[in-house]
Amino acid sequence: MGLKYTSTRGDKKQYSASSAIICGLADDGGLFVPDHIPSLDVALSSLVGKGYKDIAYEVLKLFLDDYTEDELKDCINKAYDSKFDTDEFAPLVKKDGQYFLELFHGPTIAFKDMALSILPHLLTCALVKNHIDEKVVIMTATSGDTGKAALAAFANVKDTKIIVYYPKGGVSPIQERQMVTQIGDNTKVVGVTGNFDDCQTGVKKMFNDGALKDELASKGYRFSSANSINIGRLIPQVVYYVYSYVKMMEFGEIEEGSPLNFTVPTGNFGNILAAYYAKHMGVPIGKLVCASNINNVLYDFFETGTYDRNRDFILTSSPSMDILISSNLERLIYHSVGDDPQKNAALMKELTQTGKYTVDESARKVMDDFVGIYATEDQVFDTIRRYSKAGYVIDTHTAVAAYANLEYRKKDDTVSVVVSTASPYKFTANVLKAIDERFVSSDDFEMADKLCSISGVPIPGAISSLKDAKILHDTVCEVEEMKTTLKDWLGLA
Ligand SMILES: *Cc1c(COP(=O)(O)O)cnc(C)c1O
Repeated sequence: MGLKYTSTRGDKKQYSASSAIICGLADDGGLFVPDHIPSLDVALSSLVGKGYKDIAYEVLKLFLDDYTEDELKDCINKAYDSKFDTDEFAPLVKKDGQYFLELFHGPTIAFKDMALSILPHLLTCALVKNHIDEKVVIMTATSGDTGKAALAAFANVKDTKIIVYYPKGGVSPIQERQMVTQIGDNTKVVGVTGNFDDCQTGVKKMFNDGALKDELASKGYRFSSANSINIGRLIPQVVYYVYSYVKMMEFGEIEEGSPLNFTVPTGNFGNILAAYYAKHMGVPIGKLVCASNINNVLYDFFETGTYDRNRDFILTSSPSMDILISSNLERLIYHSVGDDPQKNAALMKELTQTGKYTVDESARKVMDDFVGIYATEDQVFDTIRRYSKAGYVIDTHTAVAAYANLEYRKKDDTVSVVVSTASPYKFTANVLKAIDERFVSSDDFEMADKLCSISGVPIPGAISSLKDAKILHDTVCEVEEMKTTLKDWLGLA
């Protein structure tokens, strides 16, 4: 075995990439981390002119090294195809003097498609490689975007079933409609009367429920996760940071070796952690600006070294970032304490017991690459208006990052890329409200037409097809009922 994956919490068992993808989460509740971050084995300059899929192969082969070349290329070809509305897959566009990396050209028009398009292929391939006959039950909590992207990716995939829990009332109307109209006999969508953290905690509990696992096994099932804690989600996200750097060289904006900053709208810390991994592969990335909305727990953390989730959870116009427990931060914490699982586990235990922890100075030094900045709702709306006037309409999540980027650039004018995570068509009401309050109506499709006339960008199929789509899921449950809902669906009750 080349690269090995182990738990962030001390379980010494070593996993290959494919088996870590199947398991999702380590048995002790920790996340899988690579024993080292592999270095790119080609010069960045040699990648200039290459397409997204070629660069994907160069990155994935290093992290997912127990897959053969044919297996990986097959997964890449199945993932990045006409499901995307551009053959660049991740276009890097310059608007009003600023580069934006548009990650929303996939089937559900949010960046989760970048990794979820490939995950089912990596997973089904992994099952065959590891001689596993059980059916996989994908269980996912969503703050809005992961759910639909995972449902679309796994619908009707052989030997898999997928159940998605979302906070009822905590996602946008379009996000909810996208999920509850999902086709596929193997899909289940459940609204939970709680917030995203409740959903995520509930799902994590079920993952760690030994008795439940045994019950599942007796029926020939096993759990896996499509959440960004799965390395099968995280690693494909590293690709577009390498790709961006290469493109910026191609555009003549940077020379090989000069720094490039990224500003990333952050929730669960998966996207920005992928950028950190790209940096440690040898891509000369400078600062990583971690942009938050007013649920600014990460901003406080980078400012003070104390992570404290004891605060009110606020519903904002960027719901996919309304998160107080950023799961993937655990991986950064683990790396920052010198890859020491005991130290990390102690901090995570504190988080569970008291809702907070503080890291020491040496750990903070390791995290020096990160800068936290947050945007208030007014600042988000102002930023949407500002770019709209310049002829570029961005969504609310991207606007959080665009604001943070403008703020950060006041002190450091290193060339930067704003990571754009959703199409404005996914958050139409708030985008229009920012541009001109009078454009808001109660009809989502009327608003989409309005947005089309303002932005000049055609309405994506992901939105227009919703108009006549039938509602196929109407299950709603309390937080305490998440488990029985699952068991009912699988016929285990
Ligand atoms: C999920 C999501 C985010 C947050 O990404 P993380 O990897 O969870 O930090 C930001 N914007 C949009 C539109 C998202 O869907």
